[in-house]
Amino acid sequence: MQTRALIDPFQRPITYLRLSVTDRCDFRCTYCMAEEMTFLPKKELLSLEELDRVATAFVGLGVRKLRITGGEPLVRRDVLTFFQAMRRHLDAGALDELTLTTNGSQLARFADKLADAGVRRVNVSLDTLEADKFHALTRRGDLAKVLQGIDAARAAGLRVKINAVALKGVNDDELFRLTEWTAAEDMDLTWIEVMPMGEDGHPDRLDQYWPLDDLRTRLAERYTLTPLAERTGGPARYVRLEETGQKIGFITPLTHNFCESCNRVRMTCTGELYMCLGQEDRADLRAPLRAYPDDDAPLVAAIRDAISHKPKGHDFDYSRQRPDGQMRRHMSHTGG
Ligand code: SAM
Repeated sequence: MQTRALIDPFQRPITYLRLSVTDRCDFRCTYCMAEEMTFLPKKELLSLEELDRVATAFVGLGVRKLRITGGEPLVRRDVLTFFQAMRRHLDAGALDELTLTTNGSQLARFADKLADAGVRRVNVSLDTLEADKFHALTRRGDLAKVLQGIDAARAAGLRVKINAVALKGVNDDELFRLTEWTAAEDMDLTWIEVMPMGEDGHPDRLDQYWPLDDLRTRLAERYTLTPLAERTGGPARYVRLEETGQKIGFITPLTHNFCESCNRVRMTCTGELYMCLGQEDRADLRAPLRAYPDDDAPLVAAIRDAISHKPKGHDFDYSRQRPDGQMRRHMSHTGG
């Protein structure tokens, strides 16, 4: 389709799109959503056809990796047809990877079909291996179901990575248990530093802040950590644990030490394109999609224009926490 790739003003090629397909979720993780959520009316959300048009436009512009997220992507009705449709870009060699981030609750019934659609890897968010704690943290989740989902994914040949949010006083006592479990199951594990979102004005976020430097120091008391050069263009750093061979990632969204290599943008389920994790600057892609249902040229022009405004980096930190829940909205619509 298009030939000229997306290059931002700082000469960074944009090759990674994180696409949220729904704001809905079957969990209410305390650090992510309020207990009583009002979800968007359906007409605000992009249809599966519109999502296909956007994703296809990005692939035509050089995006090589597509990560589907939410809300919880697997609770969107008929989401499988979207994955199945994206397979054509993998088959054509235009896309290197089609993947998703999920809470795992629906994986048992979707794993085989996702594998058939060309998905090879999946990130499952799981913060604790204690069923009661899991239920309290997610406010409704069933740990056994998630573990079944993980088993089903692995049985379907998918590589599973576990993402855990580091929460002081909540799962810091499970550092070694989670490490040992993922090692025994041959899964990589990535820790995410908690961001100040969740219930509006909830004071726990700061109390629960567990710096990953501290986590890493504790890990190094028991294991030999070899830093890996591997970078994904995102906010993750990796080490290998020599004793187990597994990869451990550290995602520190609050720092901006990854901006110089940033290759990514994210789109909400309503078609808002965010150019930077820590900035509120966004472009509306729904307007050109809906105004020109049979012509993608205005959509492509809007994408190019947005990328020409991608900022150099961000200074996202706790001092910028906004009382209006803007960062929470951003996260729950874009899938973190
Ligand atoms: N429902 C899917 C899932 O659970 O993976 C995708 C969306 S979820 C918002 C994406 C990731 O963001 C999850 O790993 C979740 O733990 C993480 N997340 C949510 N709120 C966060 C916060 N306040 N700080 C750090 N990570 C957060």
